[in-house]
Amino acid sequence: MIPNNLATSIQMYNKIENDFINSIEQQYGLKFDKHNIYSSDRMYSPSEYINFKSSACIACEKGIDSRSDFLSLKCNKSCYFCFNPNQIDFLDNTQNIKKGQSIANHLLKENPRIQYVALTGGEPLLHKKEAINFFQRIERFNSKIHKRLYTNGELIDTFILKKLKNCNLQEIRFSIKLEDSLEKQADILEKIEEARYYIPDVIVEMPVIPKTYSHMENIITTLESIGVRGINLLEFCFPLHNEKEFIRRGFLLKYPPFQVYYNYWYSGGLAIAGSEEDSLKLLRFAKQNNFKMGIHYCSLANKHLGQIYQYNTAYPIDKWFYLSEKDYFLKSAKVYDNDIHCVEHVLRKNNLLQYNKNDDYNFLEFHPKYITLFDMVNIDIGMSYNIIEEINSNVFIKELKIEKIDQKNFILQTI
Ligand code: SF4
Repeated sequence: MIPNNLATSIQMYNKIENDFINSIEQQYGLKFDKHNIYSSDRMYSPSEYINFKSSACIACEKGIDSRSDFLSLKCNKSCYFCFNPNQIDFLDNTQNIKKGQSIANHLLKENPRIQYVALTGGEPLLHKKEAINFFQRIERFNSKIHKRLYTNGELIDTFILKKLKNCNLQEIRFSIKLEDSLEKQADILEKIEEARYYIPDVIVEMPVIPKTYSHMENIITTLESIGVRGINLLEFCFPLHNEKEFIRRGFLLKYPPFQVYYNYWYSGGLAIAGSEEDSLKLLRFAKQNNFKMGIHYCSLANKHLGQIYQYNTAYPIDKWFYLSEKDYFLKSAKVYDNDIHCVEHVLRKNNLLQYNKNDDYNFLEFHPKYITLFDMVNIDIGMSYNIIEEINSNVFIKELKIEKIDQKNFILQTI
């Protein structure tokens, strides 16, 4: 179907979104929380923090000069929410262990200006020698490169902490597993406390699982007393496998799952309803209690930003597109059918000739900053969301969504 007006175009995208929702519910049996709908404003709190947010997190949001890699996906834990099993070649990657030095060489060759590197897993410390080799190689190449390690902490000891310190590791991110016994969690907290003597930034990173709010409040209070640099509260996600564990716990999926539907790289899947609310509540709790450590909430939408930014800044863009500072989508104002003539007339009268008129698809698009020219005109204007894709060396602009805008109250900075 070729949409020939704004309403049919919006309908077309609504159908795609509904088909996606239905197929997820049918395939996994996990339901969306349609009683608690996220409006686009409410949806968009991708990253909020108090006191401190790692510079590596800031770099990750644009994905420039920042990379992470793994030695193996093998892990000493088996978290039901782990998103690794959903990756291509997961089994091979649990059996094969890459050489620390060669993955470091690969990252450095790919981008000699790289500024942030991370080693993740699986559990990287199952291969301590290779993990050290990785960081040593990076350090030898350029000691200014920020190095960080993700670990569930079980294999941390004084010996490895000293080795990591000698590699000039700047940041270590522990995860605390709420499914573990309290004794085990206390053991990880002790290791976190010890790490502070060796690594400048000791951070905890964990998903905020609905129905665990009080436990999380206790954890962040303990971390504050230990004196860690911060905690990253992750939006809890369904990793598109192991659905029985999510259904058994009574979780629902956040609805709608995305502000803009797309095939995102990040394999963390779909956000679970309620995780964002609890994360923001923890942030408020820390603020009210004058916490000194950083509390940073990182939503699923935040994890998608780097991909969108990289795609949409890889090529020069046409003059009728606006690169949104908010979500990095390319946006254009779009009119159809009978409204085209009126818009073209006004744009030309104002000497604005950089618009795109498409007779085949019967639309005209122009830069959103000119929408205010039409605040008193009775026409339908849509906001089109686009991404640049490269397929077989050909570059395309792909429209992902269109929504009707209210031109009377339009403010460019809000899109
Ligand atoms: S500790 Fe991390 S890598 Fe290991 S199973 Fe849990 S989520 Fe996956």
